[in-house]
This record gives sequence, C-alpha cells and structure tokens, in this order.
Amino acid sequence: MKLHEYQSKQLFAQEGIPIPRGRVAMTAAEARSIAEELGGRAVIKSQVLVGGRGKAGGIRLVDSAEAAEDAATQVLGIQIKGLPVRKLLVDEAVGIQAEIYLGITNDRQARSPVVIASAEGGVEIEEVARREPGKIVRIPIDPLLGLRDYQARYLAAAIELPREHWRDFIRIASGLYRIFHRVDATLAEINPLVITKDQRLLALDGKMVIDDNALFRHPDIADMRDLDEEAPAEREARKYGLSYVRLDGTIGCMVNGAGLAMATMDVIEFCGGRPANFLDVGGGAGAEKVAAALQLILAEPAVRAVLLNIFGGITRCDEVARGVLAAMDEVRPRVPFVARLVGTNEEEGRRLLAEADLITASSLMDAARKAVAAARGPALPGGRRDDASEGSRGPGPAEGTAPTELPRTARDDLEGSAPA
Ligand code: GDP
Ligand code: MN
Repeated sequence: MKLHEYQSKQLFAQEGIPIPRGRVAMTAAEARSIAEELGGRAVIKSQVLVGGRGKAGGIRLVDSAEAAEDAATQVLGIQIKGLPVRKLLVDEAVGIQAEIYLGITNDRQARSPVVIASAEGGVEIEEVARREPGKIVRIPIDPLLGLRDYQARYLAAAIELPREHWRDFIRIASGLYRIFHRVDATLAEINPLVITKDQRLLALDGKMVIDDNALFRHPDIADMRDLDEEAPAEREARKYGLSYVRLDGTIGCMVNGAGLAMATMDVIEFCGGRPANFLDVGGGAGAEKVAAALQLILAEPAVRAVLLNIFGGITRCDEVARGVLAAMDEVRPRVPFVARLVGTNEEEGRRLLAEADLITASSLMDAARKAVAAARGPALPGGRRDDASEGSRGPGPAEGTAPTELPRTARDDLEGSAPA
C-alpha cells in the first residue's frame, strides 16, 4: 500500500525528521487560506499516488494567497497519469540550495534493508542509476542492529555533504530507518531532502510503501488507505479477501490456491489461450466469496469464457457450485463457463453445475482446452453453449497445438470416468 506524500511526511515528523509547514486542502478556498497562514509564498502539490507530478503540472510554486487559489483551481481539475487530483498539500515554499536523495528499501540479494543516498536528488533515483550510477551510494543494514551512526556518517561523506549538516543528516537517516522498520515498509524515501538557502535540512517530498501483508498489525496505517486511488476491482477483491490481478487475455480464471492458479494460467497458455486474470479465492471459500469472485471476473469486458478450477480440500465443491449459481443468477453471464471440480463433495458440486448446463471437465487439460475453444466461439445467452450437450463435438484445440483428444461433455463427467 502506498502512502500519500502528506501521510509519509506525518510519519517523518513523528520521528523528528524536519518537514515544511503545511496542510492538506480539498478545495481552492482551503488552499487559499492555508497559503495565507503560511504568509503567501507556498507550493501547491497534488496528492496522487504516482511519481512525476512536477512534470505533469501537478506542482506549482506561488507567491500569494490569490495565486494559491488560482493554482489550486487548475490543479484540482487535472489528471495525472489517469488519476484525478482530489487533494492538495499546501506547503510553505522554501529556498533550495541543494537536493539530495535518501531512501531505504529491501535488497533481496543482500537479504537486508539497504540505505541509498545520492547527491543527485530531485529526480527519480532510477534515472540517476541509469545516467550516473557512480553517484549512488548503498549500504546494507543489519536488521538486528538497525542503522548505526557510523553508517549514516559514511553516507554523508560519500555524497560529499558539507560537514555542518552531518549531525542533522545522521538524525534524519536514523529516523527514516526507524519508520521503515516500525511500519513494515518496503520503501521509505525522501526525494528531495534539501539543504535550504538558510542552511537547514528539510524533507521536501516523502514516499512510503507499506507491505500489505503486515497491515494487519498496523491498523492506524491501514486506515490511511485512500479508497479513491484504487481500481474498483481491487477494492472489491480486498473486501472479500481475494487475490486478484488483472491480465490482458480473454479467459477469466477462478481457482482456489495461488499455485493452482499459476498452473491453470500455464495450461491455458499451453492450449493457445490467454488468461484474463489471476484469481485465488483461497482455501475454504464459501458461496458468498465465490459469487464475489465471479462478479469481479465478469465485470471485465474482455472476458470471453470463464474457467473454474477448484481442488476441494478444505474448500467444498458443492459450496463453490452454489456460489457460482448464485452469482450467475445475479450477473447473468454472457459468456460460457467451463468447470473442473475435484475433491470434497465433487459429485454434488458437479451435479449442481450440470443442472445449470455448465460445461464440465474432468482434468485441467480438458478444462483449459474447452475454455480456449469456448472463448473463440460466439457468446450465448445465459452463459451456456450447445456443445455442452451430449454427442455434439465441441471446437477442437487451436491449430498447431498438440492436444487432439475429443472434448468431453457434461454427461461424460457425470457418468463413470473418475476425475484426474
Ligand atoms: P515529485 O516531482 O512528484 O517527486 O514532487 P517533489 O515534491 O519531489 O517536487 C518536485 C520538485 O519541485 C522538487 O525537486 C523541487 O525542485 C521543486 N519544489 C518542491 N517544493 C519546493 C519548494 O518549496 N520550493 C522550491 N523552490 N521548489 C520546490
Ligand atoms: Mn519527489
């Protein structure tokens, strides 16, 4: 989860990192009165969860309250990389002498946090890394010891920071590490950390990314989530505890278990199709969760067929089937469904689905083949295809792909042959 600049700066301030005076405004009138409080000279900064706001016209320097109101009116109307600007941070404007980069993230190779600093602040660190990799200094931090003063001093020396700022720099770097550690961040970044014309160090911009898997132990941070900034599908998925990632194919996947979901996507690709999403409904998913998952999948216009692949261990196949039927009642799918249910209560599950005329499959390969074929064919009302009925031969696998076995029908699945 990403935090806004103003939220990151609040955390910075809690650890004693100096930040400019300022407040958040939702309207131009508020921006005006905040600028007035600050004495007129101010920076109007759009609060959107993407970088490069400056280049996109999302950051404006003004020198009066009136100008602040005008700039705020303009900035509140724009979109930055597709995100509408709804909030502004109005900060006091400061004279800048130098811009430094200071960030902490995890280094997977070193298996530890790493502090990164550069005298080339104010631009994206990736850009510095490309242009002048020598201008970036990195040191690993032992998580049991934290950032030691001598390490921060080493950084200060390496970026050739003037001596008189070392003491403050060390305080800021240790404060930043404490925040990073305390809130389970995967990134804590000050860019730029500036030397002001009046010789102070100040965190002018802040960016924090928090590990979603740790949010359960930081309810105060979790509350900072800005729902406006999320895609609606992601919000729904989180509400129901589903892992959902949108992809660009045409076959919607609903699977229980991340590993099985990956395998399902692989087999779809093997059969010549493209998955429209990754979706793990998790173990023990009940009917309600399954219904929510299906609605998510079907809300995606590119989806031409849905493949359900459920391995019932803790999850009960009949529960899943009931969820599917409930969802189909509600959303009236316009695409065919292929279901492979194996495991606990599979007979009951398959009976329910066959009654609803879904295409059923006995193995993952079989299911993927049918889904790929179904996604190529025309959509039928009610999410059913006539090739699901007995005797008719469904469309074969893609030209040039290996599988040649005849598609099995719903009846085949019910009669005799045990699933894989
Ligand atoms: P970003 O472009 O989204 O990373 O936004 P930043 O907050 O980093 O601001 C971009 C640039 O705007 C900074 O690197 C500064 O050069 C400039 N800037 C931001 N705040 C001030 C300020 O108070 N005074 C001056 N003079 N420049 C500022
Ligand atoms: Mn910045």
